[in-house]
Formats: sequence, C-alpha cells, structure tokens
Amino acid sequence: MIIDLRSDTVTKPTKGMLEAMFSAEVGDDVFGEEPTVSALEEKAAKLFGKEAGLYCPSGTMTNQIAIKVHTQPGDEVLCDTTAHIYNYEGGGIAFNSGVQAKLIQGDRGRIAPEQIIENINPDYDWLTRTQLVCIENTGNKAGGSYYTVEQMQSLAEVCKNNSLRYHLDGARIFNAITELVENGSDLSNGEIKSRINAKALEIGSCFDSISVCLSKGLGAPVGSVLLGTNDFIKKARKVRKVFGGGMRQAGYIAAAGIYALDNHIVRLKEDHKRAGHLAGIIKGLGYVDNLLPVETNIVIFNLDKKIKPESFIRTLAENNIKASGFGKQAVRFVTHLDFTDQMLDEVEKVLKKY
Ligand SMILES: *Cc1c(COP(=O)(O)O)cnc(C)c1O
Repeated sequence: MIIDLRSDTVTKPTKGMLEAMFSAEVGDDVFGEEPTVSALEEKAAKLFGKEAGLYCPSGTMTNQIAIKVHTQPGDEVLCDTTAHIYNYEGGGIAFNSGVQAKLIQGDRGRIAPEQIIENINPDYDWLTRTQLVCIENTGNKAGGSYYTVEQMQSLAEVCKNNSLRYHLDGARIFNAITELVENGSDLSNGEIKSRINAKALEIGSCFDSISVCLSKGLGAPVGSVLLGTNDFIKKARKVRKVFGGGMRQAGYIAAAGIYALDNHIVRLKEDHKRAGHLAGIIKGLGYVDNLLPVETNIVIFNLDKKIKPESFIRTLAENNIKASGFGKQAVRFVTHLDFTDQMLDEVEKVLKKY
C-alpha cells in the first residue's frame, strides 16, 4: 500500500468516473462541436451563476488566460505573497501578459479590503496602472485557509468602486464551500448539495472570473474550467487557442469533470476530517515545532530544527508514505479521495514511531 500525501492531484479516476469517460459523446471542440465539453462548461457556469465557461487543460492555464484577458502589458496585479499565480506558474504573468505583481501580506493568504485600497496606484504617468485583484480560495501555500463569502464580497465592493477586475483562483473553491455551509450528519446529501449550490451562486456573483480545478480534490484526471461573462469567455477562448490549449475530442476527459461535479463535492468533508485528525496527531509529536491551523485538506507543519526535512521525508518514503517538503523546515500533507481511514491509521503509526 502506497500512501501519497504529496497533493490532492494524485487521485486516479474511480470506476464510476471511468465508465462515464468511456461512454462520453464526443466531437471536435475547436470547431465548437464537443457536446460533453459544452455540457461541462454550461454545468460549471450555471453552478456559479456565470454566463459561460471554458474547459482548459490546467488551472495554470485558466488563471493565465484570465489575467491575459483582464490586463494590458505594464499593468499591475494585486495578490497575496503566497499566491499560486505569483509563486507557482513559472513567471507566467510576466511571460504571457507582461504584467507585474504587487504582493500583499495577508492573514495566512487572505487579504483585507483596506490592503487593496492602500495599494491602488494613483493615475500618474510614471506609475503602473493597478488593474486586477486576484485572490485564492482556499489558499494553497497558505495552508488551506479560506475566505468567507462576506470577506469575498467586501473585496468585491472595493474592486467595483475602484474599477478593478476581480479574479478568483478557485482551484479548491469546493473545499472552501463545504466548510462554509452547515452540513451536519443530520442533513441528507440532497440538502447539503442544495446549500452548496446556493453558496456557489453567492460566490459567483462577487467575481469577474473564476477558475475551478477538477483535478484536485474533485478527483478528475485532468482539467480546470474558467467562468465569466459571454464576452469574457469569447476572448478567453481565443487566448486559449493561442496558448495551445484548444483541444479536440476532449469530451472523454470532460466527462470525468461532469462526474466529479455530480459525485465528489459533498465528500470533500471527509478529506477535511482526516486532515483534522492528522493535525491532532501531529500536534502531539515532540519533533514538530509549529503546525499551521488546519481548515480544509492541507496540513503544513515545521519540523524541529534538529531534524532535516529531507531525512524525515526519506524515512516516510521507506514506510511507503509520500510527502512534500515545503520550503525550509516545513512539510505538507494533502488529504484526498484516495486517502482512506486505513491509510490514516498507518500514517499515525509511522509518525508516532519516528
Ligand atoms: C493546483 C493549483 C492551481 C493550478 O494548477 P495546475 O497544476 O496547473 O492545474 C492553481 N491555483 C492553485 C491555488 C492551485 O493549488
């Protein structure tokens, strides 16, 4: 048994998902004739109350396309210091869009409305035009922390009042949503789903554009969707082609995305429960210095200075547990669809023995 806690991207399609993929109806999406891709795009757009969607190979591409459409070269993007668009997209905002980032030190990835206001440049010839605010929910490098709807709304208000565009890197937005709705065990699946849908609509109305990953906790093998107005998505579709992301019979993979939206949202709560359980174990370990608060499915902790992270990770690997170093003394575990209670027990044993 290999236990892979490096990321929630490591999941493999379930049997039901594979069946949906095999039976997908397909066509050529570059010609606009892909029924399954169109169905996924419509479904995701409708879920967040947006006019249209665009299916892309990755979350990096959906973010990069959004930034390209929202900005002109020389513009400035405001984001948190931990932002994926700044740290983990290969300098794409400069490479693809010729824009620069002004980094804001938020509260574990979450920026406040006043911080936006303070960082908007006045309209002088020699200053960069502040054009776009990009937030991440949940925050990845920030340790899975999430914004509430009220927080997202108050940032939206500032953006609107200052003519800034507002993009959500919602790679893990459903992890945030499952925490934002009440979903006690007394509620039926259908009731939880309808609460999730209502919350997604509230979130959708805040943003000019939203990127959602299907290949993280939702368990699809590939893909992300970008959501926005018809006009925005029309422009985004052209940029996707230029970036080399126009796909043909992509319905086979899009079908996995549809299946994931139908079947894998409510269960994210289980991943959070297991992450919380891991946090409880890790807190009690003598060799751990600091554990970030665990809010969703990401667990980040610092090892005591006496322990080298490489050697800790090697020992885990020798016990069939894969984990990632996360800079300096930090280690990251991410729980997901393929991480079971039995694996959790095994991890507990290995951690306590170390
Ligand atoms: C994973 C991730 C992305 C997109 O990553 P891809 O690997 O390109 O799909 C974007 N933003 C955040 C916060 C992520 O965690």
